[in-house]
Amino acid sequence: MENLTEKLKSCSSEILARLKFIAALAGEFNYPVYIVGGFVRDLILGVEDFDLDIVIEGDGIHFAKELSHRLKADFIKHRRFQTATIVIKDKTHPHPAPQEAAAVKPSSGAGGRFFSIGTKIDIATARKEIYEQPAALPRVSPGTIKDDLGRRDFSINAMAVSISEGAFGQLVDFYDSREDLRNRRIRVLHSLSFIDDPTRLLRIIRFEQRFNFSLEKTTLRLLKEAVNLKMLQKVHKHRLRDELILIFKEPQTVRCIKRVYALCGFEFIHPGLRLSSKMLAMLKKANETHMWFKNNFPHKRRLELWVLYLAVLLEGLPSLTLRKVLMEFAFHKSESKIVLSYKSDAQRISLKLKGAVSPSSIYKILEPLRYEVIILALAKTNEARIKNKLIDFLRLYNGSRIFTSGHELKALGVQPGPHFKEILKTLLYAKLDKKFHTKEEELSYLQNVILAKR
Ligand code: ATP
Repeated sequence: MENLTEKLKSCSSEILARLKFIAALAGEFNYPVYIVGGFVRDLILGVEDFDLDIVIEGDGIHFAKELSHRLKADFIKHRRFQTATIVIKDKTHPHPAPQEAAAVKPSSGAGGRFFSIGTKIDIATARKEIYEQPAALPRVSPGTIKDDLGRRDFSINAMAVSISEGAFGQLVDFYDSREDLRNRRIRVLHSLSFIDDPTRLLRIIRFEQRFNFSLEKTTLRLLKEAVNLKMLQKVHKHRLRDELILIFKEPQTVRCIKRVYALCGFEFIHPGLRLSSKMLAMLKKANETHMWFKNNFPHKRRLELWVLYLAVLLEGLPSLTLRKVLMEFAFHKSESKIVLSYKSDAQRISLKLKGAVSPSSIYKILEPLRYEVIILALAKTNEARIKNKLIDFLRLYNGSRIFTSGHELKALGVQPGPHFKEILKTLLYAKLDKKFHTKEEELSYLQNVILAKR
């Protein structure tokens, strides 16, 4: 059996130190311990992966609790699935050397130094799964590492590496996974895989596109059969939402979306939804404009590209349907707002910005909108006169400040109240329209404004 010790040694010193620490603690319990899933796949492929998925042949929850205790980490238990997540919340020391990590006894409580803040480790009891109903979540019970790998989605994700002392680095491969990885091929482990869990129909496309792998022949046939049985429509929409978000977060989103449409269609999102060449072009532009924004405005809020993709994907649905879809999939309120605003505002603002518009009017039109909607409006338009105004807003007007504050107003004898805001707004608009430049000019402009209001 292949030994991956050398590959493990080429991981970052922090990862290696964590593995050694976990292995030493599992040794105290006498539990065989493995890294599983995506980490092993990526280790063999030489892709960096920081998500550690640990499986224990023994009581994984008890083990995770003890590990969290020794690391002074948060512990989150998911009893139904016999899994737990620990999250490191504190870091007291700088990064160590790996040989130092191996030397630290898990009992000393010094392990926290090898785990930076926010590190998340998933720990599970090796388990078997029984699907009592298609497309519903399974019932789980403790099992062996073989059972645990056998319940996984695809062979390339069904390998483990032992990190137990004495077997450190040994590859565990019961399902010809290594051979599939070598042949760049994705294969389900049994013929009912897509029926048991139809989210795998979306997952397989994600991995196929990410690694440029091919779908094994029988797997492709099973996929098509599951699509014909409309299996995706039988899954809870919240689970589909999570898979869609993962697709939107892939580096090759547009390719993934095209492939999802080609193999599965969009009926699982809404029967009226189609993929058009216009939508594809807009998805690409959304990506480019997002990148431009990130590079040119590093000090502004970071935008989630995936929400832009979602807005573009759903844009073609009628407004009421769109609202319904967003609700059914339970997208977050702030995400739904962006999608709805893009649908209703992008066209409208472009029309308003077409003609001659003063800077203050541009500000009034765009200021109430989220950056995401402005970026999408920018991506959508081909007209330079609209583009320039949107860019001017981002570069010049947004974040523009006046010198005057409530203090000056009070000093000038204005009584505090709602008109304070009005006066300050009038000043800001006048500044944007270049009616004054210096602080002194602003003050005399202000006096005129106050006089006019009296
Ligand atoms: P990524 O690189 O996108 O994070 P991953 O392989 O690490 O991919 P996760 O979603 O983090 O994927 O899941 C971890 C592991 O759990 C997978 O590698 C796979 O073995 C297993 N798994 C995840 N989802 C399923 C599923 N729906 N059915 C069966 N096994 C699954």
